[in-house]
Amino acid sequence: MARRRLVAGNWKMHLTVPEGLSLVESILPAVEKRTDIDVVVCPSFPLLCHVYMALKKSPLKLGAQDVFWEEKGAFTGQVSAAMLCDAGCTYCIVGHSERRGRFDSCSYPKEVLHYFSESDATVNLKLRRLLYSNLKPILCVGETFEEREKGMTEKVIKKQLSRGLKGIDAIELLDMAIAYEPVWAIGTGNVCDGNEAARVCSLIRSFLSKILSREASESIRVLYGGSVTGSNCQEFFSQKEIDGALVGGASLNAEEFSRIIRAA
Ligand code: PEP
Repeated sequence: MARRRLVAGNWKMHLTVPEGLSLVESILPAVEKRTDIDVVVCPSFPLLCHVYMALKKSPLKLGAQDVFWEEKGAFTGQVSAAMLCDAGCTYCIVGHSERRGRFDSCSYPKEVLHYFSESDATVNLKLRRLLYSNLKPILCVGETFEEREKGMTEKVIKKQLSRGLKGIDAIELLDMAIAYEPVWAIGTGNVCDGNEAARVCSLIRSFLSKILSREASESIRVLYGGSVTGSNCQEFFSQKEIDGALVGGASLNAEEFSRIIRAA
């Protein structure tokens, strides 16, 4: 089954409004030439409306980096799915390792790290809310360096998928994407080998075929993320098991991100 490729830029906690607008303006020429793929940028919450105004007449799509699962209420500091829809989002990242508190190297003590307390259970609640609100989730899964060294990659990813997707009807998941993001490759420059990334992406798809319908497991896009750049992206895009990329650092640079869009 031919799946439409997806390239998503996760801006994380970077860029002011003018910087974000200038970046969008610089990547639009590359996006406009690639109407055969989906390109998404995921700015921080305060930038969403501003960025939406700049891209709404273009094929570039807007995504958020997180969401809260309740519809509304006394949840200080949280942002609802309805607010994301209002701001112009069509996608939302969920379960990023940085929200799960799974950093490759981090000097925070445990009590502080506890702040980043995303779990498979909260991922499940967030996914349900996103799907109910017609937002397309980009669900991140991946192992730490230590887990990889212990041979636990497969076990960790299966657990994240089975708990994250638990009880959700397969028919609702057709438009979602799953990003295989090994924690040790995120923001480190230690990019995963293309063949290894393809092996894990194929493992993800075969696991999906066991827990979901055939239709869902064939239509969900499986991306690779972790230190993707304009120079190494071809290694991933040349693998038939990989349907695109979730890009962090390199999505902040117009030239790099445009190279990735052109290569996808
Ligand atoms: C990410 O944050 O999802 C990511 C892949 O970051 P980077 O490309 O910087 O490794």
